[in-house]
Amino acid sequence: MTDTSLPTTVGGPDLPQERRLLTAVPGPRSQEKLARRARHVAKGVGTTLPVFVEAAGGGVLVDADGNSLIDLASGIAVASVGNSAPHVVDRVTEQVRAFTHTCFMVTPYDVYVDVCERLAELTPGDHEKKSALLNSGAEAVENAVKVARAFTGRDAVAVVDHAYHGRTNLTMAMTAKSMPYKAGFGPFAGEVYRAPMSYPFREPVEISGSAAADRAIDVLEKQVGVGNLACLVIEPILGEGGFVVPADGFLPRLREWTAANGVVFVADEIQTGFCRTGDWFACDHEGVVPDLVTTAKGIAGGLPLSGVTGRAEMMDAVHVGGLGGTYGGNPVACAAALGSMQTMQELDLAGRARQIGSLVIDRLSSIADKHECLGEIRGRGAMIAAEIVGADGHLPDAVRTSAISTYCHSQGVLTLTAGTYSNVLRFLPPLVTSDALLTEAFDVVAAAFDATA
Ligand SMILES: *Cc1c(COP(=O)(O)O)cnc(C)c1O
Repeated sequence: MTDTSLPTTVGGPDLPQERRLLTAVPGPRSQEKLARRARHVAKGVGTTLPVFVEAAGGGVLVDADGNSLIDLASGIAVASVGNSAPHVVDRVTEQVRAFTHTCFMVTPYDVYVDVCERLAELTPGDHEKKSALLNSGAEAVENAVKVARAFTGRDAVAVVDHAYHGRTNLTMAMTAKSMPYKAGFGPFAGEVYRAPMSYPFREPVEISGSAAADRAIDVLEKQVGVGNLACLVIEPILGEGGFVVPADGFLPRLREWTAANGVVFVADEIQTGFCRTGDWFACDHEGVVPDLVTTAKGIAGGLPLSGVTGRAEMMDAVHVGGLGGTYGGNPVACAAALGSMQTMQELDLAGRARQIGSLVIDRLSSIADKHECLGEIRGRGAMIAAEIVGADGHLPDAVRTSAISTYCHSQGVLTLTAGTYSNVLRFLPPLVTSDALLTEAFDVVAAAFDATA
């Protein structure tokens, strides 16, 4: 049974861009819906903020009780162009009217090829590239590994500490954090090896990016053997791991070493891609050109789509029929991706991400002046995090982090947490959010630090 008592709500950027609390969060209507959720939805599927959304757009989410919440999450870096962005709605509507599915592997269609062409243009490097489209980020990572293994004839996969690559069997093995992603779900796929990451805030002694890379390389050479290694898969800025930005020179040194040793360098840009970090891709900041790039999240304005894009000779190492899937590159999702990329280009959302980044860093810096628990502010563009620590300035404080986030939720600001130690607040506003809305959101964040002191 669905609730039909409310009129159909229209989202998109025309929604009033305001924080508006009419009830407690969650309000009575959301509470009723939550009870129904609990009856029908498996409890393993978690909830960050238990309100039911009825419309969203720009920088706000409107819930079933009429509350308008400021969105600092973008559905985990997905709705970067804002919910129901006009170009996305238009192209999706047109595509849904034309046809919804043929399976690209059965009978192809233009929008799939259009997305692959755009991916070749936008991803780092001007070498010849090809792509395969899939549904989810995890599936893109799995397919990147398939391509790397087919191309190299080697088995081993290298990942780093604190990595997050997904929830399927292979990607659980590649993901670092046990609870909640892996606990109880083994045995995991074999031939996955973990190397130390560059995590400047948590290094026992300061270490340069290239020295941190050599530390990782030493582990891979001695404990795995470079002749066994098909690929190194790495997020240029850790996502779920807590927006850790490796020290300058870390990624370039790894890139150089992989190239010298026939190891495929895979940049997992699923969270960092599509203007989030103030450039089309995070690798662009240090001029790193990966062999393969995985994309998803921000690619299609909220519709499920992912891709692997890479050197043509690597992508073509897989036999015909070896890549694909029933829904991979669904035409409606591809149409959404074209609308989303068009929006990013027309509105210069990479530039906007950099502006958002300076505003957020400014606001967090003044909070840090007052609150010693704010151990580090880091990130790039509109992907900024605050690591929360105890009185010693170092020990992770997950309890305080959760209290700050819960306070924000109660005041109508949707924040997310992250990190291996669950002590990182991460901010991922839609890139179409106004300064006014962001300023109001960070007034609430500042109040949350005060209220939980
Ligand atoms: C979210 C994420 C994934 C997994 O994507 P799903 O679409 O949830 O499968 C993989 N890698 C990174 C870096 C991510 O942020």
